[in-house]
Amino acid sequence: LQQHSSHYSLIIGLGQTGLSCARFLLQQGNAVAVIDSSEKPACLNALQKDYPEVVVKTGGIPADWLMRADSIVLSPGVDPRLPQIRQAAEAGIEIIGDIELFARHANAPIIAITGSNGKSTVTTLVGLMAQRADKKVAVGGNLGTPALDLLTDPAPDFYVLELSSFQMETVHSMNAFASVILNVSPDHLDRYDSIEDYQRAKQKVYHGTGVMVINRDDPIVSAMAVAGRDQLGFSLHESTGYEFGVLTQRGHLWLAEGDTPLMLVSDMKIAGSHNIANALAALALGSVMGLPMDAMLKALKEFKGLPHRCRFVRELHGVRWFNDSKATNVGASIAAIEGLAENGKIVLIAGGVGKGQNFAPLSPILNNYVCTIVLIGQSAEELARHVPETVQIHFAADMKSAVQAANNSAQTGQQVLLSPACASFDQFANYADRGDHFEQAVRELAA
Ligand code: ADP
Repeated sequence: LQQHSSHYSLIIGLGQTGLSCARFLLQQGNAVAVIDSSEKPACLNALQKDYPEVVVKTGGIPADWLMRADSIVLSPGVDPRLPQIRQAAEAGIEIIGDIELFARHANAPIIAITGSNGKSTVTTLVGLMAQRADKKVAVGGNLGTPALDLLTDPAPDFYVLELSSFQMETVHSMNAFASVILNVSPDHLDRYDSIEDYQRAKQKVYHGTGVMVINRDDPIVSAMAVAGRDQLGFSLHESTGYEFGVLTQRGHLWLAEGDTPLMLVSDMKIAGSHNIANALAALALGSVMGLPMDAMLKALKEFKGLPHRCRFVRELHGVRWFNDSKATNVGASIAAIEGLAENGKIVLIAGGVGKGQNFAPLSPILNNYVCTIVLIGQSAEELARHVPETVQIHFAADMKSAVQAANNSAQTGQQVLLSPACASFDQFANYADRGDHFEQAVRELAA
């Protein structure tokens, strides 16, 4: 560290985001040091290969390293409430993250997308809509390519960013061209002192002078709309004025702009009312970007949805199997269950790391739509306490036995849904790994 004792930025966390920060700051000619609490962080080898000169410390986050830095760049996975970080902040050391760096250097308008659920879906949709309209867009952030790796010269027409609440915590100067908070439901309460703190992190996405895209159905988001700012709303209720909504004509449900029907909801390949909301949010953002309607609707008709989000896996003996491993909180699982509900009773596989959530809102949904629940992971017992008597409970040690239990209980005409309402890291590397294990086990079921 001696060589950097004069001026350096300290990056905390060496995953994809930390690596992108190191690369960016080094290209800008800054001195950089990197620390990580784990002994072998994910991107250690990549950093050492490309930048052997960078000082790296692993296996701890010592306070003196922070106190000597000019600025601290936090990775989204690092909790800013750590005492060392609080101490540095109190000493006046600047604490930022990759999105703050990005905002300071972005050379094209930013479309910013956050919310408890639907971020990746809407981000991908807006990217596809812009491509269909022959715009040059760079799409990433919390999803896919880290934001700083998207910066290019010449600039694209737009940057389309998925932003997590963790990333928003350290943002001060973003002024997005258009931004949206899709919805706010409790999540990550292990990382926030209260749901208000979680909302405050997300609310930063609306700072500045851009167009606020507002979910008129979400009371928390609606209350964030600021009078006098440009805003465009969307709602699953019949639309008003020129905002985006739905309307029924001759018994069919349409996506609509004001009282103009745009396309049949049934022409979309993604299902469930949450995905109608996602489509409307994408239309609102796209129209702020000036994308032609026909290009946007084309993208909506083509989009098949992302892996691990309510994706159909297989039909076996009249039972349809769905992978919704990405549902890592209660709100997401409720949306998925309600989305599939019209087709009959559901066998649900759920459980994992509960992250301090309250599972009670699941009870009425289970009561209405679920006949059997198979519980896995750390929070299985706690979840079981919220399962109503009408629902049969099984406990399973791992995904393979969960799939077998579901297979034994599912009757023709029913559906099996993996939608865990929990994070995955007690038993899996991440949600994708969990979904892959599920799909593998489902494919192995004997026909
Ligand atoms: P995120 O990127 O915010 O995690 P995704 O688009 O990856 O969101 O979707 C994750 C899960 O959240 C989906 O599998 C689905 O169950 C649920 N979901 C998606 N969109 C919404 C929405 N608008 N409202 C509630 N739940 C949703």
